[in-house]
Formats: sequence, C-alpha cells, structure tokens
Amino acid sequence: MKKSFLITTAIDYVNSFPHAGHALEKIQADVLARYHRFLGENVFFLTGTDENSLKNVQAAGKEGISTRELVNRNAKKFYDLKEVLDLSLDDFIRTTEVRHIEGAQKLWKACQKDIYKKTYQGLYCVGCEEFYKENELVNGLCPEHKTKPELIKEENYFFKLSKYRNQLKKIIEKDEVKIIPQTRKNEVISFINSGLKDICISRLAERGRGWGIPVPEDSTQVLWTWFDALSNYINALGYAEDSKKFQEWWQKNENKLHVIGKGILRFHGIYWIAILLSARLALPERIFVHGYLTADNQKMSKSLGNVVDPFPLVKKYGTDAVRYYLLREISPTDDGDFTYPKFEEKYNADLAGGIGNLVARVLTVAEKTKLGGIEKIEPEFEKEIKKTHYNCKSALDNFKFNESLKAIWDLIGFCDKYIEIKKPWETKEPKVIYNLLVSLAHIAKLLQSFLPETAEKIFDQLGVSPFDKKFLKFRIKKGKLLFPKLNNKFTQLNKI
Ligand SMILES: [Zn+2]
Repeated sequence: MKKSFLITTAIDYVNSFPHAGHALEKIQADVLARYHRFLGENVFFLTGTDENSLKNVQAAGKEGISTRELVNRNAKKFYDLKEVLDLSLDDFIRTTEVRHIEGAQKLWKACQKDIYKKTYQGLYCVGCEEFYKENELVNGLCPEHKTKPELIKEENYFFKLSKYRNQLKKIIEKDEVKIIPQTRKNEVISFINSGLKDICISRLAERGRGWGIPVPEDSTQVLWTWFDALSNYINALGYAEDSKKFQEWWQKNENKLHVIGKGILRFHGIYWIAILLSARLALPERIFVHGYLTADNQKMSKSLGNVVDPFPLVKKYGTDAVRYYLLREISPTDDGDFTYPKFEEKYNADLAGGIGNLVARVLTVAEKTKLGGIEKIEPEFEKEIKKTHYNCKSALDNFKFNESLKAIWDLIGFCDKYIEIKKPWETKEPKVIYNLLVSLAHIAKLLQSFLPETAEKIFDQLGVSPFDKKFLKFRIKKGKLLFPKLNNKFTQLNKI
C-alpha cells in the first residue's frame, strides 16, 4: 500500500493582504508536498484562511465595509497565491465555510467534559487573539504586536488545559509529537514547565458584533478564534460527518505534518494537542516551525512601508526566482532577510549565471552534435549524480531546503568546471556532451520539488520525460533562456 502524507500550513488571518512571509511558509510546504509525491506517496496538501477573528471586524469597520465583504475580498488574495506561487494544493479551507463551522462545534462538544464557565478578567491582545499574563508583556505591551492589550472582564468558557500538563510534557519530550527544530521543542517544554493554566475558549458574541462561530447551545458566546481555527486541519478532511476521508487521512494516517511560523507555536504544540487529547482524536506526528522573514532587517509592517508584496515580485522576476530565493537564501528555521539588491544578486549569480547558463551552453552544442549510440555516462559523473541525489534527499528529510538546493548547485558547478576543461564547443565530443545531458536531466529531476516550472522547461528542451529511470535518448529542442540576466539596477517594487 502507498504511504500517505498529510501536510498543512497555518491558515492566515485575512485582516490584511498576503506578504512575502506568507509566501515563504507556503513555498516550504509545497516543496515538501511535491517531494513526498516524488517519493511515490499519496499526498494531501492543505491550506486556508482564518476568518472569524475579531481583527476582521475591526479592519472592516475602519474601511466602512461589512466584515463578510472584507473576508471575502482578502481570502481571495490568499487563494490567489496558489497560482502565483505554483502551489500544488489539494484543498483550501475557509473558516467561514459550513464544513468548518460544523466541525468546530462538533469538536467543542467532544471536549465538553473539560469545558466549564467562569468570570474572568484579563489582558487581551486582539492582534494575537489571546490573553496575556502580566509577566509575559514587554513594558506592558504585547511582545508580538508591541501594542497595549485591553483589560477585559467577561463570563466565558474555559478549557481544562492544566489537566493535560503531564501528558503533554511526556508527548513532547518523547517526540510523540515531534517539534522541529529542537530549539522550538525546548521552548514548548519550558512553557509547559512554567505551569499551564486553563485557557479561555470563548468570548461574548456582542464583543465582535456577532462575528464568529456560536458556542453550541449558548448563542451569547462565540468560539475563541484559536479553538475554532485549529480545528480546520480536521474539518477539511470531513471531521463533522466523520467521513472516510477523515478516518483515512487523520485517524489512521501516521504521517501528518503541520508547517507553522514561530509565533503560533504555543497554539499548535500545546493547545491543539490538548484539545485533540480531550476529544480522543489522533495527534499530528510532526510540527515544523519556520522563522520570520524580515525586510532590510526590520519586521515587515504597513507602518514602516517595507512589506514585500509577493504579487508584483512574481510578476517581475517569475515564480521560480521567488521560490529559489526564499528557499535558498532564507534559513529554514531562523529569521531571514529579504532585500532587493540581494535578491537580484542571487538571481544573476545562481539562476541566470548558474542553471540558466549551463542549460543554454550544453544545449547549444548538443543541438549540433550527433550523439550516436552512447548509453553510458562516465563513472565520475555517475558518482557525482549519485552523491547529489543522496545529499539532496538527506537535507530535505531534515527540512534543510537551502542545503538541498546547494547540493543541486554543486552539481551545476561540477558540470561548469567540466565544460571549461573539456571545451565541448571545440571538440564536439559526443561522450562529453552525453555526460552533460544526463547530468542536466538529473538536475531537472531534483528541481521538480523546488522549481517545478523550470524543471519542466529543462525536460522539454532535453526531450526526455521526468518519469524516465534512465535517460538514454535525447530529442534536443533548445528553447528560450530560462532566466534572462537582469541588467538594470535593482528596483524597489513596493516603492514604484
Ligand atoms: Zn499581540
């Protein structure tokens, strides 16, 4: 039987438009989805939008439109990333959909034994949709948003998180839910050790003018955004109606991975696991946590005017150029920085000068050469190609997108050096050209997960199929340059 692999990303708040940081996460997840398909597994790749937040009510109010109008408009922008970034999504769930609402309410009922009501007063950050303890604030401000949280006093529903403390600790420590990288796992453990208090999981419906999912049998309250949002992962699979799909992809599947940003680790590494335990549902096996993308070493923010918009970026440089930069230049797990000069420098060096140049050089000579019946590459190439496959895979198995790409670019460098020595444009030696063509085919094969469009173009120009086990016959048809060199000085798109 084929192995199954479920991969999800965070679902995004729709109170504003997507930026390049959202793109980073979706692209990382897409590489993993494509890679597991490449390994021959059944893959389900899910993303979506989180639309029941109080932030949306406020954002809509500011714009003078209805909340529904705002979420519809903005959710579309997030959905549009699918095409713009070439995401191989299998589903996109919006938390305003019926399948989600019914699932979230069902999950609430499944946790009923751990839910109770009490009056509560606390400091609430609307940006985070979370209550903060006094000692968690930095100079009285939310550490994430640098804004002053509101003092709120309400009668709300609570979830007995404290009850699960020991169980959670064991699950995380023993990697029953493996948090990657280790530093993030340590953070979760130290949060558990600092003492887990019960969490508030509802708010008064009137506080958000009725926006949100009603608590079952109590319409004066709506579900806390996170209780609601986290359930998207199972609702998309048909949890509400206990579908076969839910059973197969969630309950019985032992290969489920959540890809998230570091800011929402606590919700996934602790709250979500506890909720699933309470509802007696299967747990995810792994949580991969990426860092943040900064622009010119500053947090991207509207007020600073440095938000990198993925739409014009892709329009100018192409999808694969953006994918390449985010995967190769940005650390998979630490914060990484985006600047236009660096982006263009990498583009010219690695894409125009690296892969683009190699393909053009090899195909120019190959077009004019009769290869005859050569069917074997030289041992040094065989060794190099094998090594590349190995390094590429082992890096990717450990979420090291940058190192995996480096392995491919090492093979590109190896071919470039070989060309300099052998000068095939003078000698027209078929054997030399054959070595290079087979290498290119393998480069394309490995690039499929990272730069799918580029890989396809290389296969087309070589006239071979990505499904070939051995590349014996080439039908060369040289095409356009893959990445034309950028000659103009860099432009800041967001300033145009
Ligand atoms: Zn906040």
